[in-house]
Amino acid sequence: MKDCIFCKIAGGEIPAEVVYEDEQVVAFNDLNPVAPVHILLIPRLHIPSFDDIKPEHKELMGHLAWVAGELARQKNINEGGYRLIMNCGRDGGQEIFHLHFHLLGGKPLGSSLLGRE
Ligand code: AMP
Ligand code: ZN
Repeated sequence: MKDCIFCKIAGGEIPAEVVYEDEQVVAFNDLNPVAPVHILLIPRLHIPSFDDIKPEHKELMGHLAWVAGELARQKNINEGGYRLIMNCGRDGGQEIFHLHFHLLGGKPLGSSLLGRE
């Protein structure tokens, strides 16, 4: 998708601190981390938001969730616990319209949703 910053990251056109990638998924550090571990996980496929998931994306979404869990174990935040967030749409606070999970951990996250007030 032209003009999508996360498609550009997935395509290597924009640099990012990539921590994991395979044929379907890319994970990279958030530019403005709100926790010691703050990783964004995206499908390479441009799906704008959670509201755009179709039946044919079920396997991809399962894989994305699996990779999130694997990265949590790799970063050693699984025992302490972590938060997996997906913002959807305007009221959900979504800023970038290429579907992504935030994987947050490495400190007690409290009750505010993204650690931002
Ligand atoms: P959201 O509000 O869920 O759409 O979150 C978008 C996230 O993308 C924010 O946490 C930003 O800090 C992050 N972000 C924006 N641009 C970049 C980038 N070029 N590289 C890494 N993270 C980014
Ligand atoms: Zn995109």
